Amino acid sequence: MAASQPREESKAIPLKILIDRENNKVVAVESTKDFVDTLFSFLSLPLATIIRLLSNNDQQQQSSESSPFLGSIKKLYETVQNLTPNDVWNNPVYKQMLLNPKNPCESLCMNLFMNIDDTESSSKFFVCDSCYMFSTFQNLDCTCGKPTNKQPNNLDSEGQGNEVQNEVFVKENGSLFLVFDDLKIVPCSLMTSVERLVELGYSDLSKLEEVTHNFGKQEVIVLCFVL
Ligand SMILES: [Zn+2]
Repeated sequence: MAASQPREESKAIPLKILIDRENNKVVAVESTKDFVDTLFSFLSLPLATIIRLLSNNDQQQQSSESSPFLGSIKKLYETVQNLTPNDVWNNPVYKQMLLNPKNPCESLCMNLFMNIDDTESSSKFFVCDSCYMFSTFQNLDCTCGKPTNKQPNNLDSEGQGNEVQNEVFVKENGSLFLVFDDLKIVPCSLMTSVERLVELGYSDLSKLEEVTHNFGKQEVIVLCFVL
């Protein structure tokens, strides 16, 4: 969504990071629910959205080059991009649907402090004039054969049972979480933290250094898909 992108791009979440200086490695990140909610929202992203997000800069493109799976999906995405409407499409809207699929958790993700998904919001609905079936895409062929091109007035697309503004996937109760470099996430308690660090070979915690860093949207994408 072009209008909200700059605002989203300028957001940052301050995080405490445990660093292993000897091996130049981030061991774990202590985070609030905002960061964990954003990480969890990656599971709701359609493949085409992931490919589009990764195409934004060179560092992120490396991940699709190093992963055969992402590399193939990227080629598929580019193929759809380059097929002109007259080539194959039953309806030009289908091309738009494949390149910009809707996030099934869109209404929840719109409440995230940092929303990674830049797909245009589907708060608009288009209704078939004949049988009143609806779609979030305009001019789609309805099953009755007519196009979905009528836009109803005053349709409330908000409020899908999530009435608490600050709560998205994770409860807002002040809890902290530990995010490890393999993206394993555990609630932050003394026992789980120590157990996991020992598992990773850090029985001597004096080798770890704590620093604070602000994570912006692009850094979160790199964390999830590149590192
Ligand atoms: Zn219809």
